[in-house]
Amino acid sequence: MNKLLIEFLEMLDFSRTEAEELYPDWAATIDLLGLEEQDVRFAKEEWIPQHWDISIKGVRLCIGAYIRELIEIGKIKKYKERGIKVIYGISPSQPPCYSAIKIAGGEKVAVMYPDFLLSIVLGGFFNKLSLFTEDDSLLSERCRHCALNRTRINSSVRQVIPEPDVIWTWKLFCDEAAKTEELIQCLTDNHWDYIASGIPHDACLGEHEDKDPERITYLGNQFREGHRQIEEITGIEIQNKHVYAAIKEYANYTRKLDRLTRMVTNTDPQPVGGNELALFGTTISLIFNSGLTRFEEAIDSMIEEVAVRIQEGKGILPKGSPRMGCHFTPICVPWVDRLFRQNGVAVSFSSHVSFFKHEFLPFDYADPYQMLAQLWLRHPNSVNLGYHIELMVEMLKEYDIDAMLYGFFSFDRWLGSYQSMTLKEIEEQTGVRHFYIEGDFWEDRNYKKTDRKGRIESIAYFLKSNKLFTDANYSD
Ligand code: SF4
Repeated sequence: MNKLLIEFLEMLDFSRTEAEELYPDWAATIDLLGLEEQDVRFAKEEWIPQHWDISIKGVRLCIGAYIRELIEIGKIKKYKERGIKVIYGISPSQPPCYSAIKIAGGEKVAVMYPDFLLSIVLGGFFNKLSLFTEDDSLLSERCRHCALNRTRINSSVRQVIPEPDVIWTWKLFCDEAAKTEELIQCLTDNHWDYIASGIPHDACLGEHEDKDPERITYLGNQFREGHRQIEEITGIEIQNKHVYAAIKEYANYTRKLDRLTRMVTNTDPQPVGGNELALFGTTISLIFNSGLTRFEEAIDSMIEEVAVRIQEGKGILPKGSPRMGCHFTPICVPWVDRLFRQNGVAVSFSSHVSFFKHEFLPFDYADPYQMLAQLWLRHPNSVNLGYHIELMVEMLKEYDIDAMLYGFFSFDRWLGSYQSMTLKEIEEQTGVRHFYIEGDFWEDRNYKKTDRKGRIESIAYFLKSNKLFTDANYSD
């Protein structure tokens, strides 16, 4: 038995017994991915301790929960041999749609987001996403295909991610996933069913899409129809009660996440960093075949530990240091958060995976699919540019930040264009300074720490000077 793999799990709070039980599947997963002993050692001894605050139990448990789900990828072939139906989800999508399937099918079905998970785990914890992005002969970086889809295509074609029974793909933000899916099907001999759900991006500028019954019904029916097709393909019956249960599970976690986000972002000194917060936020963007229990345990522990830090006045930087929200803290490139901190700026909440009071309003619908549709259309990133600006302005009022950081999605036709078109307007309406850094959320193959150091230092310098000036004026 490889001692290093056991120690890796123990570092993340797995007990010795749990680690030994998981070992055969863990070792098989490491082999399947092509990770070598030196990669695991580097992750354990350098990358994780440098970029993640593993002195916090909640963080250890959360990373451990992601690793547990990674091991699920290594088990897919066995699941298929046992006749278990395998369903893949992709991002961006509405995760409770998938948890409803898992709740309905239990052990008869495995539901997961393998490529999203690979990107987070290999990038964020191993600095090794290059295993699946270096070869750009199928989807090229030069054509600005995103690294998530490049990871998907390479891991699928190489059979690291075995073919599912069905993949439910979406065109809610971007249509890159659906297109990639078609290409994968052209390139492989194995074929599987795929469902593509979407909504036309034809809302008028400023239209309140979450209040448009026709739009809600259309999107709700897309979700419903997806389930009907999954039923036909897998034989698993998905009833309304399963969808309600999925919404409840999601709401339960998001309320905890919202509490944690506000505790961290609205406390000075900021008790934990942007990476740690985004780690918990990312959980709401996918579902886990291994379940949410470990993530729940992790976030409960995190909330308690953060409360203690707040009580003791402990912060990652001294009180009064500038704090900056981010569209989505790039956790697959975790040095960005740490470099800001080294320069005296605390990265705080990620607007992409945070909530504001608008999103917690009671639903106007009793039908669970319409509830999911309304929930989707309440988020600033899911709607037309005009409404996006309006919602972002509302959201920023609820967080105590000095600035917002954007970028890392310039390759993305949806998010990238939103960022370039809305920042000035949001800045003018809120008075919160907005900054932009060219980069990639998924990987740093096109930019290195040294390339971005100057930009980060100058943003930090500006924020510190501005803060000094504002505080001085304030005390006058
Ligand atoms: S292009 Fe953007 S929205 Fe689409 S899958 Fe890639 S990162 Fe996600």
